[in-house]
Amino acid sequence: MTIEDESLRALQEAVKLSPDNLPLRKHFAASLTARGLFVEAEKEYLAALALAPDDSELKYELASVFYQLGKYGQSLVIVEDLAGGSPHARALVLHARLLLNDGKVDQAAEKYRQALAIDRSVTDESLAEQLGVSAREMLRESYVENRERLAVKSAGDEDPDYLVDLERPSIAFRDVGGMEDIKEQVRMKIIHPLNNPDIYKAYGKQIGGGILMYGPPGCGKTHLARATAGEIKAGFISVGINDVLDMWLGNSEKNLHEIFEQARRNSPCVLFFDEVDALAASRADLRTSGGKQVINQFLSELDGVETSNEGVLVLAATNAPWHLDSAFRRPGRFDRIIFVPPPDKDARASILRIMTAGKPVDKIDFELLAKRSEKFSGADLKNLVDVAIEAKLESALKTGVPEPLTTKDLEKAMKVVKPSTLEWFSTARNYAMYANQGGAYDDILKYLK
Ligand code: ATP
Repeated sequence: MTIEDESLRALQEAVKLSPDNLPLRKHFAASLTARGLFVEAEKEYLAALALAPDDSELKYELASVFYQLGKYGQSLVIVEDLAGGSPHARALVLHARLLLNDGKVDQAAEKYRQALAIDRSVTDESLAEQLGVSAREMLRESYVENRERLAVKSAGDEDPDYLVDLERPSIAFRDVGGMEDIKEQVRMKIIHPLNNPDIYKAYGKQIGGGILMYGPPGCGKTHLARATAGEIKAGFISVGINDVLDMWLGNSEKNLHEIFEQARRNSPCVLFFDEVDALAASRADLRTSGGKQVINQFLSELDGVETSNEGVLVLAATNAPWHLDSAFRRPGRFDRIIFVPPPDKDARASILRIMTAGKPVDKIDFELLAKRSEKFSGADLKNLVDVAIEAKLESALKTGVPEPLTTKDLEKAMKVVKPSTLEWFSTARNYAMYANQGGAYDDILKYLK
């Protein structure tokens, strides 16, 4: 095998030197897959499985690679075997695709529904569409199923309603394209302290506090939070602040406390708050005259005043950091505020690779597409792939011949899908230029240059 990519070659050398190093082999195989080198990845996964024959994650990866190579029979044998154990959401999605390939639409829909019941983040709109069910409909059904399952599991618990939001994400950092700096900050601030509390204590480093991410919509803040939970095999609770305020009018403090308690009971757990700026907005909102108390409650939960937050990792996101109360930024709270910009060129290529993995594609020129999709957010790229696939599907239905997705198809979709991040920057620019106290928004200015 000749590998042109320098970092891959270095990995290949490392594997040659330590052929029994399983994590290294896994990393090499995953890197080959991420770059679309499926023939090579197959060999690596087979070699890794020889070292760890019962590793279900490896089996799933090999099944995906077989799928990519069109070896559907071999892929099916593996996912059927995996279905015997405790099934894994992504394996169920793959199983659904394979069944669909065989024309078994009902069985495929059932597998897909089971996948969503385990992990909502594996939503695959194009699959749902091919199954003839809208993704939203499917999600709702699986939501009800999941809620019933968890409600039974938690019988006697006082807040079964909130328990439904506990996820076990199957995505990890490898499913997040780019964002390398941010991943590193999350590792340093959240993952390492969780795994090595003694080392941090020895250096007198306080553990706790959270990370606040801000930036234009659709650039992966939620995706990264979910992947953080998957990376450390922790639970994941996602809370939209607006929902909390709307749903629990006059009762928000108690319920914020309940949410934190739920995370504490399920630690390690990533607790993700979206739209945190809505907390500040609620101060001006007459309907919630107790707005200031909600903020105070949030902060004291974050500080772990009454109960320890050990194992509770708090991430939060906002598109409007300028509306946040400055009390949020004190040390021990959100003392790390990270700008999440739209993905750069390399990140766009890697996001497109991730998004087309598992789909029938024909030698896509990711570099070219990345070059042409400047200012696209991750969500825009997802939209791009969806639009291209929809067009493909339409023509396949007409001709009766399913054809793989090509670079041209994605280029054509670019005529329809436009970047959605520009509007955010026109607002952000004003704050960064005229309300940039303490250089809080220097990162935005740097990006705009
Ligand atoms: P909002 O501010 O609107 O809540 P967000 O920044 O939280 O947006 P996400 O919801 O994480 O954005 O991203 C939307 C979708 O785009 C994700 O579900 C994911 O499919 C895709 N996506 C975004 N960024 C990435 C990335 N870096 N790698 C892979 N997929 C991504």
